[in-house]
Amino acid sequence: MSRSLAAKPRLAPLAEEAAALVARATVARDGRAPVLAAVIATRQPDAQIYTERLLKQAAAAGLATKTITLASDATADDISRAITELAENRDVAGIILQSPLPDGVDRATVAKHITVHKDVDGLTAESAALLDAGTLDGTLLPATAAAVMELLRMYEIPLTGRRAVVVGRSAVVGRPVAQLLRLAGAQVEVVHSQTIDMGAVTRKAEILVVAAGVEGLVRGEHVSRGAVVVDVGIHLRGESIVGDVDAASVDAALGPDGWLSPVPGGVGPMTNAMLILQAARAAVRQAGA
Ligand code: NAD
Repeated sequence: MSRSLAAKPRLAPLAEEAAALVARATVARDGRAPVLAAVIATRQPDAQIYTERLLKQAAAAGLATKTITLASDATADDISRAITELAENRDVAGIILQSPLPDGVDRATVAKHITVHKDVDGLTAESAALLDAGTLDGTLLPATAAAVMELLRMYEIPLTGRRAVVVGRSAVVGRPVAQLLRLAGAQVEVVHSQTIDMGAVTRKAEILVVAAGVEGLVRGEHVSRGAVVVDVGIHLRGESIVGDVDAASVDAALGPDGWLSPVPGGVGPMTNAMLILQAARAAVRQAGA
């Protein structure tokens, strides 16, 4: 049985750090709490519940919250207009654009209206360009990618010079994780849907991050004993949540020297914590606190 990269021990300290930053920003704003705003244009219940929970967590850190709910058939213009209003509102410190978007609406087209200093989920091309250029200081990162790195940091997993493989190359997870691992000094290889022999690459990984969106894609035969595996996948199966990693076979293959992030309890809760921390940091910078 491998060791668990559980988020829980780090969640309270991260929440405290966020609350302290928000308190500083609030004082600098003469007692007015900075606002974290979410734009949501879907009737998908999971997405609505997720946003509600996230904003509740933000409120617990002292942020004021605001939800702009648009119709599930809202156009790119409707969404862009809502985002632009929030971008121009000086009380709003951070803007989240909840997925999924209505059919036919391109994420990049609407996300570009989020000003870079309010881009607390690192969604915009401008934030991505800063990360691509290797600028980490003050750059707001895609929260899930930041969460993967925070899990590795909290369990003191060495990265410099190590062979890391990322399964998936999406703009929100795979690509930024690969870049952050590179910036941390790892030797990074990326596997995607056109890779011919995934296992031949993933078995070489000392650190394996899986963000493919395919339930149970990575199994025991795809990993090496002693590796560190971070499972980003989220799939609802009735009452339970499973990942992109087949936990039972991977856990057995990793052995006692390996590490595996749990689903639920790993990247998911850490992502929310990182998003709120980034919102708090953005609020401090905007308040000049
Ligand atoms: P996506 O569909 O945008 O991208 C998936 C990537 O995986 C693509 O680059 C694709 O080439 C690659 N891929 C697909 N099938 C593959 C295969 N068979 N072999 C190798 N590569 C393959 O997905 P995403 O938005 O990056 O999300 C990935 C997963 O992470 C999903 O399960 C999603 O629900 C989850 N997710 C979790 C969080 C969190 O907070 N924990 C946040 C975002 C996404």
